Amino acid sequence: MKLTKKIMDGIKVSNFFKKKLKKTLLFYKNQGHRTPHLAVILIGTNPASLIYVQHKKLACKNVGIKFVLYHFSKNISETSILKKINHLNNNDKIDAILIQLPLPIHINSAHICNSISPYKDVDGFHPYNIGSLCQKNPTIIPCTPRGIITLMKFYDVPTYGLNSVIVGASNIVGRPMNLALLLHGCTTTVTHRFTKNLKEHTKKAELLIVAIGKAEFVDSSWIKEKSIIIDVGINKQNDGSIVGDVKFKSVIKKASLITPVPGGIGPMTILSLLQNTIDIYKKNIKKYLKY
Ligand code: NAD
Repeated sequence: MKLTKKIMDGIKVSNFFKKKLKKTLLFYKNQGHRTPHLAVILIGTNPASLIYVQHKKLACKNVGIKFVLYHFSKNISETSILKKINHLNNNDKIDAILIQLPLPIHINSAHICNSISPYKDVDGFHPYNIGSLCQKNPTIIPCTPRGIITLMKFYDVPTYGLNSVIVGASNIVGRPMNLALLLHGCTTTVTHRFTKNLKEHTKKAELLIVAIGKAEFVDSSWIKEKSIIIDVGINKQNDGSIVGDVKFKSVIKKASLITPVPGGIGPMTILSLLQNTIDIYKKNIKKYLKY
């Protein structure tokens, strides 16, 4: 098999779905409906956050979502942010709210994320949305897990019964990913920095998802022959290049399918943000449809 055939191309797949979203929004516009509206709160000037927000803005513009950025200085108080979120929660024209993480250390991220209305919580981090996913009744699924599932479905990965191992147990990737994989019939193991003999777990994985933020941590000796490898990591090297948590060149020879970095899960995560925004929007405009 040609090595390129093993690559799950997040750019190609996300563009495929973005075209569909654009058509959907054009359809709603032609029916006389308003444009979907995403409000983004950015605090401070973390360089990575500034870049991520720009990518999200561009993606929204391309499909026809109204994107409004509320950019605050890093010294803003938690109370002022909560006030802003309350205002956005109560504005009927705003479908979705996103808080760009990480937040400055004087602000409690959990307080802030939990203050977003669960119906506008486009990142799906609110306890209501995580709890619903946990109870097999998904509402808004966090963007990276949703993007990974969309990508695997596109490549016809048969998830039911698959032995999957996730490396990394964060609230934004590892934990919700575990719930999403369970929903798709995988037998899951979640590992983290305290896991003993990590390699013994990863070597048994038919599906391995790595999200730890450590450049090229996993090499071919960590993986099972013909396994499916999803690399979530984004690590900036000293020379400015970006690499994942997986040593792509060595792992691709042994894997049956693999995601590259860049061009794998990053674009799929942004696609999910658009899909989540439009899903919320569709529910909102339905409320006003007259039959
Ligand atoms: P995090 O720091 O919140 O969590 C990291 C997790 O990895 C923790 O559970 C920790 O226990 C585990 N870990 C750390 N070192 C480990 C080790 N040596 N062995 C086993 N487990 C270990 O990180 P995060 O927010 O989940 O992000 C992880 C990576 O994914 C980062 O590189 C981030 O930039 C990237 N990311 C990418 C996307 C995307 O769209 N592609 C989205 C979110 C995060």
